[in-house]
Amino acid sequence: MQVSHADVLVRNSSYDYEKLKPVVFELLSMLDRGRIGRQSRVLIKPNFLAPAPPDRAMITHPLIVKAAAEYVLEKGAEPLVSDSPAMGTFERVMRDGGFERELKGLPVACRAFGASVMVDVGPPFNRIEIAADAVNADMVINLPKLKTHTQMLLTLGVKNMFGCIVGLRKPEWHFRTGIDRDKFAELLVRVCAAVRPAITILDGILAMEGQGPGKGGVPREFGVVLASDSAFAADAVVCGMLGLMQHDLPTNRAASVLGLMPHDIRTDGDLPDIRDMKLPVMTPLVFGPKGLHGFMRKHLVQRPACNEAFCRHCGECWRYCPAKAIAPELNGLVFDYDKCIRCYCCIEVCPYGALSAKETAAGKVARMLLKR
Ligand code: SF4
Ligand code: SF4
Repeated sequence: MQVSHADVLVRNSSYDYEKLKPVVFELLSMLDRGRIGRQSRVLIKPNFLAPAPPDRAMITHPLIVKAAAEYVLEKGAEPLVSDSPAMGTFERVMRDGGFERELKGLPVACRAFGASVMVDVGPPFNRIEIAADAVNADMVINLPKLKTHTQMLLTLGVKNMFGCIVGLRKPEWHFRTGIDRDKFAELLVRVCAAVRPAITILDGILAMEGQGPGKGGVPREFGVVLASDSAFAADAVVCGMLGLMQHDLPTNRAASVLGLMPHDIRTDGDLPDIRDMKLPVMTPLVFGPKGLHGFMRKHLVQRPACNEAFCRHCGECWRYCPAKAIAPELNGLVFDYDKCIRCYCCIEVCPYGALSAKETAAGKVARMLLKR
């Protein structure tokens, strides 16, 4: 399926609800095109990575969710706010993230994704389990957060749809795609294409830079909201805004290969020009002669490492690790870098920001040589 064109609407805003609500309403009214009918079931899918206050920039701001829910209610439709957090419970994200407070008194259903249904997303993944509430909704409004991502560079509109894979199925899929970053990107794109969010509104008011998307990232204010009926187009425009090439983002590359990236992307509004966002270092995960891949990966590729001063041995990382590559020992965590697939899920779920991706000394040298 080749997509010809898409519009991406760019608006400045803050979390002052008096200003934010009209912005979100304008974006939704420009993009819903009469598709939100009375009594239609509208899934609102924010980024609920983990329980955290909004000023940590780990989750979509609750006031954006509130504005979207109010818009849906105004149309006579039935909003459902749902996600499957990587860490902690849905209820804790609702409470700690301020969603409970902001949605109080509104007739909005809020619940974690539960049952899944099998959906054929196409080869090589074929049938995979996706949250029934996402598949069966009449419309999905995708509300991602603009954050860095240690494995995938950024997490934006397309990656947010991966949250529709419920619970521990997420790390299972990380494991199945293994060390191949492009294969994982293709999976993300195929899941997004299967869920078909009708509208994506990206929260870039308080974004995250550094080693996101969890506690290792650093909040940074951009004061911008981007919206489109194509999550692929929205992600492409974010790359331009950050001074990146469109194909620098693995999911953009995969979307282009699959014919899902619109050829003609038009922006409406003032796109900020941000050239100094701190991005994670993206070292290739496999390089050199094939027979040496294992050795190269072990010694040259950046790897998760623990700062024992922050680690509280809570167990989140080793329970979540899809490769079972982390073992708690008396003197601290021990990583099996032969097993580790560099998905960086452990960094994502660590509630104390104790983990980060570190380059090996040999890896730094190899990266400089590869650049040349
Ligand atoms: S590194 Fe983080 S997630 Fe892992 S045990 Fe320590 S505090 Fe918990
Ligand atoms: S140790 Fe961390 S990066 Fe390695 S496989 Fe486990 S979760 Fe992924």
